Amino acid sequence: MNDVQKLFGSLVFNETVMKDRLPTVTYKAYKQAIIEGKPLNLEIANIIANAMKDWALEHGCTHFTHWFQPMTGITAEKHESFISPTAEGRVIMDFSGKELIQGEPDASSFPSGGLRATFEARGYTAWDPTSYAFIKDNCLCIPTAFCSYTGEVLDKKTPLLRSMNAVSKAACNILKIFGINTVRVNSTVGPEQEYFLVDKKMWEKRKDLVYCGRTLFGAKSPRGQELEDHYFGIIKQRVLAFMKDLDEELWKLGVLAKTEHNEVAPAQHELAPIFSSTNVASDHNQLMMEFMKRVALRHGLVCLLHEKPFDGVNGSGKHNNWSLATEEGMNLLDPGKEPYKNLRFLTFLAAILKAVDEYQDLLRVSVASAGNDHRLGANEAPPAIVSVFLGTELTAVLEAIAADKVYTGNPAEFMKISDDTIPALVKDNTDRNRTSPFAFTGNKFEFRMLGSMFSIAGPNIVLNTIVAEELEEFAAKLADAPDLEAAVYDLVKETYLAHKRIVFNGNGYTDEWVAEAAKRGLLNLKSTPEALPYLGSEKNVALFAKHHIFTEAEVKSRVEILLENYSTTISVEAATALDMFHKDILPAVAAYTEDLTKAVLDKKAAGISAGFEAELASKLSTLSAEMYAASVKLDADLKEAAGIECSKKQATFYHDAVVADMEALRSAVDAAEALTGGKYLPYPTYGELLFGVNE
Ligand code: ADP
Ligand code: MG
Repeated sequence: MNDVQKLFGSLVFNETVMKDRLPTVTYKAYKQAIIEGKPLNLEIANIIANAMKDWALEHGCTHFTHWFQPMTGITAEKHESFISPTAEGRVIMDFSGKELIQGEPDASSFPSGGLRATFEARGYTAWDPTSYAFIKDNCLCIPTAFCSYTGEVLDKKTPLLRSMNAVSKAACNILKIFGINTVRVNSTVGPEQEYFLVDKKMWEKRKDLVYCGRTLFGAKSPRGQELEDHYFGIIKQRVLAFMKDLDEELWKLGVLAKTEHNEVAPAQHELAPIFSSTNVASDHNQLMMEFMKRVALRHGLVCLLHEKPFDGVNGSGKHNNWSLATEEGMNLLDPGKEPYKNLRFLTFLAAILKAVDEYQDLLRVSVASAGNDHRLGANEAPPAIVSVFLGTELTAVLEAIAADKVYTGNPAEFMKISDDTIPALVKDNTDRNRTSPFAFTGNKFEFRMLGSMFSIAGPNIVLNTIVAEELEEFAAKLADAPDLEAAVYDLVKETYLAHKRIVFNGNGYTDEWVAEAAKRGLLNLKSTPEALPYLGSEKNVALFAKHHIFTEAEVKSRVEILLENYSTTISVEAATALDMFHKDILPAVAAYTEDLTKAVLDKKAAGISAGFEAELASKLSTLSAEMYAASVKLDADLKEAAGIECSKKQATFYHDAVVADMEALRSAVDAAEALTGGKYLPYPTYGELLFGVNE
């Protein structure tokens, strides 16, 4: 075994460790419980807990924690030591099955959207045995779900697990109709993660980066991404050292970190893992984000996961590659060589088209956030309109079926690169449309609207649930069909004709598409406050209730949490902007203006005619007056926003008034920054931040 093989998973209580350390009967009972999605009994939990503890102690652990994912979108942990007192006044290291299965963190300060009064603030965490325990900072971390004392869901993992069960059940039923018996269908995800790296010393000087994770001011750098030389460009040594270090940390945790490259914007990069079961992918994506931040610090860098750290260059997203696979590993979205004849594939494809069309609002809501509002529809990320890219061949197949015609094929097209040395490549007939929000990419769908900071749980809860819904409906239609082939073609035809408006293979970044989408009746929910209320619609509440993902109260609480989260984010940004304006920006511009004015007076006294000084001082004076007026308006609107009671009205006001005020302030500040002498500037410029890592 080489070093990487030895390193990989060395901090994970995985299958190999379990097989090695658990009695065979216990291991089998554990596996069975996972397949059936049933809880473990205490006797088995005790044996597993003991083995886990021994393994953890051997690896230097002193503590354990239930690692959970509250609605904050990040992970939470409360460390408990293994010590237990003995009668002799000493301690032993102890860990029981009960402690493994269930924990009781105080939950009063986590967002609950009004679900829970403080007097019943207790929350429960429950072990999720489908995600392996691992070691982080000498602490045994046990992935857990989180709910309230009365059983309401307070986290992102519980509904994700439920949605996986829902889609598994529905997909197994469809497969049975096609004569395939499998115990489970897993939804699989490979999330590609984008991020920025900036120099830590520069980062420290910018309150906007420190408090908000993004710049609120900054005149455009003379050079941005225009030269298109960063994408896939040679990786700088310091960044390479960071990536190597990060890979190693992630491999130890069993995260399949695979592809690293530079992204479009200067200082922007991407890391993609190999896909895994959605729940594991979601846990691993959280770990990936956490380790990006901490490993960066070791290299004197700060990792920015915000969707829009810099104006004028691309922001960061997360591509959620999604598919369905049987327990045996058969990918259900693999069209095979002849998709036209692949009835099973066509059934799943039609179900997904219908799901995306009928629940485009939910998919849009699942990617709505203050940060992502800067990207969606801003000509660097897909538009806020949800549509599906199928590519030429699949579209032709569906068109043929819809027209009752026999599809006459498109034998794999070969692309000749050179005469002899390089073999012919099969031309990717799914094409590579980078502008589509939801694209079929050969054997999976790529949902490209996610923001880089997102937990992938939310979007995948929606995807799994809406596909489960359609598959269930299809199963009922196909179950007793006397002629399955005819029934599938009928169903595909009917579904495609009813939902083809969602298919769009063209360039999603154009104004023509926005107009065309409106004609087709597709939603274009441009901002978070506009999108969020759709989550609580009757149709969507019914969907979640039917599949036991959320109760009505839980959905409504999530709408509240998301609205509040939006408002809080904008309010912190606005307060930071005002703080920077008064403490740093205005004094800097004023000092420069004053020096210019003095120069004008000195020159006049010396009998020299003042030229540029007078003109510059006058321009800066005008801009300062503009900035000041904008700041007064921002301040007033911020106060007004804080007083609005209704969360929906409040979020809308933050969007319509406060965000607009911040933009007005920024525009005057940036214009002044561009004219202000370097030594007066209170913080590093865009050019310094974006091109600051040079080694
Ligand atoms: P790209 O050209 O977009 O980088 P890749 O083929 O490299 O495309 O895949 C991107 C991501 O998709 C990777 O994380 C990969 O593991 C993931 N992926 C591949 N197959 C599947 C699948 N069946 N289900 C989910 N994700 C998948
Ligand atoms: Mg991709």
